[in-house]
Amino acid sequence: ALAAARESAGKPCHMADGERVEVFANLASAADAARAVESGAEGSGLLRTEFLFLDRESAPDIGEQQREYQAIADALQGRPLIIRLLDIGGDKPAPYLPIAAEENPALGLRGIRVGFANPQVLDDQLRAILKVAPLGQAKIMVPMVAGVDELRRVRTALDRVKDELGIAEKVELGIMVETPAAAIGADLLAAEADFLSIGTNDLTQYTLAMDRGNPAVAGSIDGLHPAVLRLIAETCRGASRHGRWTGVCGGLASDPLAVPILIGLGVRELSATVAMVPEVKALVSRLTLDSVQVLAEKALACATAEDVRTLAREFAV
Ligand code: PEP
Ligand code: MG
Repeated sequence: ALAAARESAGKPCHMADGERVEVFANLASAADAARAVESGAEGSGLLRTEFLFLDRESAPDIGEQQREYQAIADALQGRPLIIRLLDIGGDKPAPYLPIAAEENPALGLRGIRVGFANPQVLDDQLRAILKVAPLGQAKIMVPMVAGVDELRRVRTALDRVKDELGIAEKVELGIMVETPAAAIGADLLAAEADFLSIGTNDLTQYTLAMDRGNPAVAGSIDGLHPAVLRLIAETCRGASRHGRWTGVCGGLASDPLAVPILIGLGVRELSATVAMVPEVKALVSRLTLDSVQVLAEKALACATAEDVRTLAREFAV
């Protein structure tokens, strides 16, 4: 099994009938990137950049960020690297980014909203990402988007910083789908975003109105809830209307029961934990598109997350 895993590690992932599904890894450091490549990841679908910003007295400057991103890009040896813009908020505070106490941090200043409140931090991060060579390996992803106006605001900042650095080439700018608004409005966002990647952790929390950090409800949170699946289906439909791809970089991409359903709904990129990459790749290569599309239709008609899990378990055997 180990030899087979090594053998498939260097290869792009295809379903049994040839359909291409990219299997990427989520990263939070340069060490993760080297391990991801060894595990067979085809790139990174989510670099969580918070590791550079938390537990310190001031924001990392452009040079420090650039060195970290470059080390990760180098470790990926040319594979795509999707860098998520800083995604912190009241629940993950940084002393140099003052956020007033909030009654509902999950609904307050977080994700890209923090970037808009601190434009210097946003601009510096964009500058650092644009300095990663070769240009284009690093793509930019915006967290916690609720509407097209926010995406436009980031694109305006990106265009300004590109001008300033004399960069004319296209640099991909995608969004995370983590709010019901982004899923329902996916067609509107896909008209202006280069790709959409679903953050199922937050999308589930906001759809079910259950705080992912609250132990009283965390046990009831399941991304395979039919309402979440319907939002994923809507996201894929909206993206494909504009020829954009949809990925998943939340926890569902690492859940073997969810993977066939996600592909059946139209997802073509899965960014899993580094540890789960070999298993997800092996699983995808055993699936056929026809069978997962039938499965996804049945899942969309299920009444509860438990019913979806039962369906997925029967499919797996
Ligand atoms: C998500 O919300 O699914 C996601 C990938 O982002 P994070 O877990 O970092 O909030
Ligand atoms: Mg999230």
